[in-house]
Amino acid sequence: MQSLSPLFPGLSLPQPLVIAGPCSAESEEQMLATARALADMGLRVFRAGIWKPRTHPGGFEGAGAPALEWMRQVKALTGMLTATEVATPEHVEAALDAGIDLLWIGARTSANPFATQQIADALQALKADVAVLVKNPVNADLELWIGALQRIRQAGISRLGAIHRGFSVYGQSDYRNMPLWSIPIELHRRFPELPVICDPSHIGGRRDLVEPLARQAVDMGFNGLIIECHCCPDQALSDSAQQLTPDQLGRVLACLKPRNVAESGMLEPLREQIDALDSQLIDILSQRMEVCRQIGRYKQEHSMPVLQAARLDAVMQSSLQQAQQLGISEEGMRAVLAAIHEESVRQQLAILRGEK
Ligand code: PEP
Ligand code: MN
Repeated sequence: MQSLSPLFPGLSLPQPLVIAGPCSAESEEQMLATARALADMGLRVFRAGIWKPRTHPGGFEGAGAPALEWMRQVKALTGMLTATEVATPEHVEAALDAGIDLLWIGARTSANPFATQQIADALQALKADVAVLVKNPVNADLELWIGALQRIRQAGISRLGAIHRGFSVYGQSDYRNMPLWSIPIELHRRFPELPVICDPSHIGGRRDLVEPLARQAVDMGFNGLIIECHCCPDQALSDSAQQLTPDQLGRVLACLKPRNVAESGMLEPLREQIDALDSQLIDILSQRMEVCRQIGRYKQEHSMPVLQAARLDAVMQSSLQQAQQLGISEEGMRAVLAAIHEESVRQQLAILRGEK
């Protein structure tokens, strides 16, 4: 992502940037009551979904075009910048005409390159000078997310950022959308200049999860948060369970400790230790793989299959136990062991195929 600019150059906005407001624009009263409370707390960017993508037909789809006028009023009465989701070229044109300051592309749209390209084309045709945030696609596909960001960048939008809103899962989970933090971390590694904003509301899907997720994002160095906030969350017409009252949002924000992203001097010696340990880890892994290949040769000679479930289970259990005693989470250790095991199987299969 070449030559990006800050989202709002010339404005000194508090860091991390907090974008807050209701899931959907429902009524003038709801918008103004929420925006006034947020502005009184010192917040500077107001979000509201004017056009809502709903899973089932018949759900509340946002108030549509009339809400653009409510956004204008929010801006005029509170001085806040305004933000909304766009999913079609018509949305883009209407939002820009109404003076919306920040557009975001939703997770269902960023998963669809045709739809994202149509938005990019509209932005380019209108020579739009607007900030745009691209939510991660609903499915866990970093390349698709990057592709959507590139389409918008190529349309001439340099005030560009990403929103991490978690990834869809089928079945029961603690989260509405799995955070899979490694994906936004990899995005940041590849495009360090790109602001990444976390959406704890849509990751958690529940009011009580917003605070721990927001704290984790800020502690990790995310550039901002987008949090759903409604003057009467229990009466909200969409995403009622995850919206906070302005007071609750105030308490969440008070818990956050801003991180100084620029200051990294003291980290150098620690980073050198990490590099040295990583290098040892790779040496040890390569020794482990050599032993795996020897086992592979033995299995080959004795016509045994590569996969031995009972052995895998035993290795997992004893390693998990040791890791737990040493303060490594079961979830993290399981992922590491699974990756090591997968590579070991790959090495043994190569022996069986006579490739090694
Ligand atoms: C939203 O921000 O209200 C929204 C619809 O989000 P997402 O696209 O992440 O589901
Ligand atoms: Mn929502």
